[in-house]
Amino acid sequence: MTVQTEVLVLGGGPGGYTAAFRAADLGKKVTLVERYPVLGGVCLNVGCIPSKALLHMAQVIYEARESAARGVVFADPEIDLSKLRQWKERVVKTLNKGLAGLAGQRKVEVIYGTGRFTASNTLEVTDENGSQTKTIQFEQAIIAAGSRPVKLPGWPEDPRIMDSTAALALEEVPESLLVVGGGVIGMEMACVYHALGTKISVVELTDQLLPGADPDLVKPLHQIASKRYEAIWLNTKVTAVEFQKKGVKVSLEGKGAPDAQVFDRVLVAVGRRPNSDLLNLEAAGIATDERGFIPVDDKQRTNIPHIYAIGDIVGNPMLAHKASYEGKIAAEVICGEPAAFQALAIPAVAYTDPEVAWMGKTEMELKQEGVEYEKGVFPWAASGRALTLGRRDGMTKLLSDKKTGRILGAGIVGPHAGELIAETVLALEMGADAEDIALTIHPHPSLSETVMFAAEIIDGSITDLYLGKN
Ligand code: FAD
Ligand code: NAD
Repeated sequence: MTVQTEVLVLGGGPGGYTAAFRAADLGKKVTLVERYPVLGGVCLNVGCIPSKALLHMAQVIYEARESAARGVVFADPEIDLSKLRQWKERVVKTLNKGLAGLAGQRKVEVIYGTGRFTASNTLEVTDENGSQTKTIQFEQAIIAAGSRPVKLPGWPEDPRIMDSTAALALEEVPESLLVVGGGVIGMEMACVYHALGTKISVVELTDQLLPGADPDLVKPLHQIASKRYEAIWLNTKVTAVEFQKKGVKVSLEGKGAPDAQVFDRVLVAVGRRPNSDLLNLEAAGIATDERGFIPVDDKQRTNIPHIYAIGDIVGNPMLAHKASYEGKIAAEVICGEPAAFQALAIPAVAYTDPEVAWMGKTEMELKQEGVEYEKGVFPWAASGRALTLGRRDGMTKLLSDKKTGRILGAGIVGPHAGELIAETVLALEMGADAEDIALTIHPHPSLSETVMFAAEIIDGSITDLYLGKN
């Protein structure tokens, strides 16, 4: 069977469904191909949403525990794993249903099956049994086929070695878990399993957790994690794994690394790689770089003029909000709108306890680039709202251009940092300077005030701290 369409979208994740919906809203006949029987991609099905549902429950457990010191004592939680799993799955299913509904309302034709290019204007779709079901002839295409977890070379398959998808499936609460990779996935999943009762150890190749974020932002997370977890080994790597009856024996190499240790399970969270090798891109003449990413210009165009690419498959940062932003651009360019990737900042959030969020330039980048900058750091120990939450460990940092005063970057660590960072992204996009934020009335008492206080520090008008006379 042959299907003719104006716009083919390959992949139904946040990049793909956003692109499909936008192109349909702008009047195109759109066909969306997804290999799994639901829309939502990694983010909705095995990423952002299930992880955040579990992280919410982790936070409830931590807060209940910490309440004891404030005179409200709860009993130890009883974990009904199957109910917790069901709740997480219900959240996902609700959103799956919502997406299917949104596709239907827009008359986006969704074809479930695995797509491979056969030429620069055709895609072959096979069903789950591998038999060819449809050939799609398209005028223009948007590739949004995402990414998958990196595997460590030479590691044998064993159910006790988990990737993020297996970890989110929450098969059991193991007694001990080694997290390989102290990046976002590693630290978020460590938080979930620790709250549920697992003893956590983390091994990270570089010299800090969440590499890429400024060290001062990561410090409060590291401090809490060091208290809660059995061990955090930095500058360390796994050199051998051996499967034993009692668990997985892991050998480590690095500064301070212990002798081989045995863990019930191991989570490998060492990054993700693009799915470009699964699409037969050569048949369409689409180029990839040495890491498998599809190079695109600011209009999301690949080297083939009528084929676009978006999301994880075009490169870092691999984030859902970057994928959907790019999806809109590709759709709008196809529909003749004057769109291009012009975002100045893409926020990043680790939904750990405490949350760590940053956007724009980091301080490390400004130093490397030799940019002259001013810094305002407001410690949450001086925030009334933070103290009412029992959280004095956070901080809000603003970075501005010394010459123009414009906001260049921001970092926040503490509960709800992921919500608070959005104000700073808007400030940067609007070309605001620190004074603009300092002169904006923020509600009291609120964590959002800490953004204003950090701006007041740069502005020299802070009264909530005494910084002495210059
Ligand atoms: P994907 O979501 O990967 O979607 C690609 C789709 O294409 C998939 O549905 C796939 O089945 C389909 N596909 C692939 N090949 C084919 C083919 N040949 N034929 C048909 N269909 C195909 N990001 C955030 O911003 N915030 C978070 O909190 C966050 N948490 C995460 C937690 C975890 C555990 C993980 C793993 C990721 C998380 N991410 C988060 C990252 C986020 O999930 C990705 O950046 C995002 O899903 C990328 O969207 P995408 O549309 O590019 O690709
Ligand atoms: P990551 O790149 O964030 O972290 C991987 C970590 O593993 C790095 O710290 C790296 O130094 C370390 N590492 C690499 N090889 C190692 C080795 N052999 N031994 C020990 N450590 C090693 O990747 P991730 O955590 O797997 O996440 C993948 C992607 O998913 C990221 O790009 C991220 O943007 C996205 N994601 C985002 C969120 C969020 O936005 N909250 C949550 C989860 C995932």
